[in-house]
Amino acid sequence: SISLQGLVKRFGSVTAVDGISLDVGEGEFLSLLGSSGSGKSTTLMMLAGFERPDAGRILLDGRDIGDVPANKRNLGMVFQSYALFPHMSVLENVAYPLQMRKVRAKEIRAKVRSVLDLVRLPFEQFGERRPAQLSGGQQQRVALARALVYEPRVLLMDEPLGALDKQLRSEMQLEIKRINTRLGLTVVYVTHDQQEALTMSDRIALLRDGRIEQVGDPETLYERPTSTYVADFLGESN
Ligand code: ATP
Ligand code: MG
Repeated sequence: SISLQGLVKRFGSVTAVDGISLDVGEGEFLSLLGSSGSGKSTTLMMLAGFERPDAGRILLDGRDIGDVPANKRNLGMVFQSYALFPHMSVLENVAYPLQMRKVRAKEIRAKVRSVLDLVRLPFEQFGERRPAQLSGGQQQRVALARALVYEPRVLLMDEPLGALDKQLRSEMQLEIKRINTRLGLTVVYVTHDQQEALTMSDRIALLRDGRIEQVGDPETLYERPTSTYVADFLGESN
């Protein structure tokens, strides 16, 4: 499980994250929802280890990971600009994190195959293709496969479906949910889309100006908002 305790992050005079405390349970799907500039990405970057908090602590299974570098945190990451390596095949893209970890070639092949099955891109059909020979949604799946291939304990996603059209988006939402449930993978999911957060999450933390305005399961936020801000945000359609 993850425990964020009193996280603060300032950039010059801007306080991007202003005291966020939040626990995420094992296997839980938690969304950080909020409007632009509310501190979602900054929170995720601190969790990932790319930004250092000015105050507060991050615990992973009770252990303070403040001094653990990003590449040792065992977190999978998918961002909106999923940046596959264009000159590499699907196989090579997905294998990359394992090669960095000096996993043996035979084991790499087996893992890549199984993770491509998981995102429904059969190796025989897709393994040798380059990103340019895939649709946007398929590229997104490759990025997801690459994030999953070394079996992270937590998956962090920052607006991963923003670039996709409606149809692909809902397919990918289902795909991600399926993986979350099937692997019991803990997911922290950043989105500004309240519909996406409502349909996918076990719990939602609605951020406003770097703070948590309300946190709870989707029904509670939707039916019993504690402020008009929450009510308006969830009622909005965008
Ligand atoms: P969006 O939905 O637009 O991605 P967000 O909720 O992810 O927004 P953050 O990226 O966390 O928002 O930014 C929170 C605040 O911190 C914003 O006011 C932003 O301008 C500021 N900020 C973020 N990163 C930096 C940085 N590297 N330097 C200066 N200010 C920053
Ligand atoms: Mg952001």
